[in-house]
Amino acid sequence: MEPLWNWYVEWELPGSGHLFHKRELICHCRSPYQDIEVAVLDPLGKALILDGKIQSAELDEHVYHEALVHPAMILHGSPRRVLILGGGEGATAREVLRFRTVEEVVMVDIDREVIEASKRYLPEWHRGAFGDPRLNLVIGDGLEYVEEASRRGEGFDVVIADLADPTEGGPAYKLYVREFYEKAKTILRSGGVFVTQATSLSYDISTHAIIRNTIASVFKHVASYTVFIKSFDDEWSFVIASDDKDPATLTPERVGEALPGLVEGENRFYDPESHARMFSLPRYARDILAREKRVATLDNPVYVPV
Ligand code: SAM
Repeated sequence: MEPLWNWYVEWELPGSGHLFHKRELICHCRSPYQDIEVAVLDPLGKALILDGKIQSAELDEHVYHEALVHPAMILHGSPRRVLILGGGEGATAREVLRFRTVEEVVMVDIDREVIEASKRYLPEWHRGAFGDPRLNLVIGDGLEYVEEASRRGEGFDVVIADLADPTEGGPAYKLYVREFYEKAKTILRSGGVFVTQATSLSYDISTHAIIRNTIASVFKHVASYTVFIKSFDDEWSFVIASDDKDPATLTPERVGEALPGLVEGENRFYDPESHARMFSLPRYARDILAREKRVATLDNPVYVPV
């Protein structure tokens, strides 16, 4: 038996977690915001780990990032100006920049050290996105950026929240509450679409249900969708919302028609069939979502259990 320090445990709930063999530690540091680690884990390959939580891994980062970006961009139809909140690895920006209509991407991440580690150790993720002249990288708090953009009267076609999970005392929980979603709505142009990663569907479905319900209290149209991510050992969830465009109108046929014209190159994951599966939730989940009444606010935020 190898020593325990060669194993990486990620806690899901106080009483359970999952275990990966740590083949190599590439870097480990602590920024003012979080603990940052890049390591090679079996069988995931290279992985970015923040505060003990895997953010994405070589094996399936394309699944997570295509799932986060493509439905919102296609639902919009011709996004020109896009805001990314978080997304430190640069892979969300990479996917957005593949859309031919995109003229400007503003990416706001709070942690310069995550960006520096990603630029240096995760080139397979960003693939040159940080050097694209259409990308405007801002180091700062996403909440403050959205408040200032709202005061300046700025507008975006798509706003993508690729943030760390809402953990108590962590840097991102204030971006999962109603006050934030209300502000984010003010910077959406007409026809604008908002999308966020919305934590695990199975470690604790109520966290997802509260996030969705909170977004539904602000936007007219809202939908939950999920995708299996091996690196998270789970069905991962997202919420897409808009006042003008109903995600229910985004059929697999529409996805199939739009993809070739809108996106440069071939997707590895997202296509009409994947879309149909992503937007088809199991019965128990639909029942829980329908029953959820709680809304997260600054006074009463939602936190993931660990
Ligand atoms: N895939 C991820 C997940 O499942 O949790 C999210 C990935 S991305 C690396 C998360 C990023 O959010 C990090 O780079 C972190 O620095 C950034 N972040 C956290 N809080 C933030 C905030 N308040 N404003 C902007 N960026 C933030």
